[in-house]
Amino acid sequence: MAPANRYFYEELLERNKLSEFATTSTQQIAIENFQFQKILARLQELYKTDNEPERVQQEYVLLRRFLIENPYTTTAQLRKAFFQARHIEAQEVGELYDDCEIEEACWNCDRCGPLFKKYGKLRGIKPSACNDHRQNLPYIRKITWQQGLRRLKVGIHWRICLPGIPEIRLFNNLTELHKKFPQQLCAIHLYPGIDRYDLQLYFCEQSTWAVDIKDYQNTYNLVLKLTPLFGEANLVICVMKNFHFNINKYSA
Ligand SMILES: [Zn+2]
Repeated sequence: MAPANRYFYEELLERNKLSEFATTSTQQIAIENFQFQKILARLQELYKTDNEPERVQQEYVLLRRFLIENPYTTTAQLRKAFFQARHIEAQEVGELYDDCEIEEACWNCDRCGPLFKKYGKLRGIKPSACNDHRQNLPYIRKITWQQGLRRLKVGIHWRICLPGIPEIRLFNNLTELHKKFPQQLCAIHLYPGIDRYDLQLYFCEQSTWAVDIKDYQNTYNLVLKLTPLFGEANLVICVMKNFHFNINKYSA
């Protein structure tokens, strides 16, 4: 989600939204994001030059999904997940995480990722989007401490995991639709072309949709920053709850 990520970062710098909940500075977040950007740039280059670009694409999706679906991980889990990857080292993925303190009480919200405690209450990374973190709610989980437990760095949480949660949820829902209606929806691809946008939908009557999810409360602010893909695409914006789906429709 390269363009959307840029918007997140711009928003972050403009509004300094993180200052309330974390001691992490915007500079620190930029440094943490740079670690991910280095991997992304390397894979984008390989995608153009490698004789197996599909494999590079698969490994990128593996990495991105891992960061979204595993805001907490362990060294053993990282090794297992990236054991067969040719272009990504488990160790460099591990560097996108911080070590948890021994016996630290760790919590996660399935809607917005790792939580932190402030004044005895659990708080999320973006209170304007997700702000009810009572411990008895079904989407709040306590993470049992174990040797080697790590938590996503704040910059990766903000930039990759938080926007990634609705991306993966939409992908999973569309996968169900694809199973039900394979004659209409032929295929769905996540982060095609190493992150040109979020989702690519192939419809069997020959049209293709390029979908980006934008976390903008104000549609007008989003429209100012959008440009259609491929020149001739028809740009459509859908709004659902807090999220805007930016869809470029073009012929296959
Ligand atoms: Zn939350």
